[in-house]
Amino acid sequence: MTDTASTLRVALDRHGYDIHIGAGLIARAGALIAPAIRQKRAVIVTDANVAVHYLAALTASLDAAGIAHHDIVLPPGERTKDFAHFARLCEDILSLGIERGTPLIALGGGVVGDLTGFAAATLLRGLDYVQVPTTLLAQVDSAVGGKTAIDSAHGKNLIGAFHQPVLVLADTGVLATLPKRELLAGYAEVVKYGVIRDAGFFAWLETNGAKLLAGDGAARAHAVRRSLEIKAAVVAADERETGERAILNYGHSFGHALEAETGFGDSLLHGEAVALGMCLAGDLAVRLGHWQEGDAARVRRVLSASGLRISLSALPERVRDPATLLAHMRKDKKVRNGRVTLILPHRIGEVFVTADVAPETILDFLGNAAGASSPADAVSH
Ligand code: ADP
Ligand code: ZN
Repeated sequence: MTDTASTLRVALDRHGYDIHIGAGLIARAGALIAPAIRQKRAVIVTDANVAVHYLAALTASLDAAGIAHHDIVLPPGERTKDFAHFARLCEDILSLGIERGTPLIALGGGVVGDLTGFAAATLLRGLDYVQVPTTLLAQVDSAVGGKTAIDSAHGKNLIGAFHQPVLVLADTGVLATLPKRELLAGYAEVVKYGVIRDAGFFAWLETNGAKLLAGDGAARAHAVRRSLEIKAAVVAADERETGERAILNYGHSFGHALEAETGFGDSLLHGEAVALGMCLAGDLAVRLGHWQEGDAARVRRVLSASGLRISLSALPERVRDPATLLAHMRKDKKVRNGRVTLILPHRIGEVFVTADVAPETILDFLGNAAGASSPADAVSH
């Protein structure tokens, strides 16, 4: 584990790209971006919170590298991912007189990254873009893999495209200004990587998670790097999610249902929903005899020790109606022929994809989980 920057390659048939990880990368962004772009001119898209902290450093480094730049500062928050903001963003970018070789730079969390990525996918039928993720969630997940999207009145991320960035700069130093709640939400996705692919990393989190959350730079860089190694490998094996990539959705079927019920708003952040979803998937797997209660308890312990909620009973009663939650699960993008796809663990470090769990089983399980006390409540902190 070191504090210095390191580089990973996402090996795709076409459009492979580098991910740089480490503290202080924004200050060096111009030099790192220059070889990856086709024009010494770029359009930065960011949000107002992130701009306050990091826009000046980014533009200074672009200046130093001789890259001309425009910037567009959007309002923070999920609502910025709607059609109206997307339309305005596209018109604003076009009004700058861009060409196909003009890259976009997404400086921000998942909202900025998803929206800018989708603008890059569609403007002039495809622009290059660079991801500079500034939330833990975006660094370990959404900035890598090429999924871009905006939200519809029918649901989140329903309008989008696969469009890979040309470069990702994960500056782990910027996590220092991230609100604690956002950090924890991203941490849920970090824990996910351990559960789906790497028992050693999971054990490392059991020991080092507290240090990471408290601000240890080397621990943060290590966790982001290991998460991205796993994500990059999974994406390289299945760029368009026809198979294995689905394991990245561990905890997400249940999680999305909870997010949908709570309105995709501040009351339950994506990562918080994923933490609950992983606990539910784990409990269901125990119930079906696929994994051991002892392992399920380890996952709950790592999550609850961080401060994340791990039990459905922590949510208001109105958002945990089993039939409503199941109905949301059946509307998920990943549903095939009406069957809910679930990712269930066999052991820590190994999960499998199944469409074989009957809806009645899920319903009955959710009915129990929504009851007064689940095993999750018995976890000691
Ligand atoms: P996510 O990455 O989870 O999708 P958002 O893009 O909505 O989340 O970002 C979450 C919030 O954190 C937003 O209000 C955003 O402006 C803010 N934010 C993002 N990165 C940073 C940072 N490094 N420091 C402070 N605030 C940040
Ligand atoms: Zn997620």
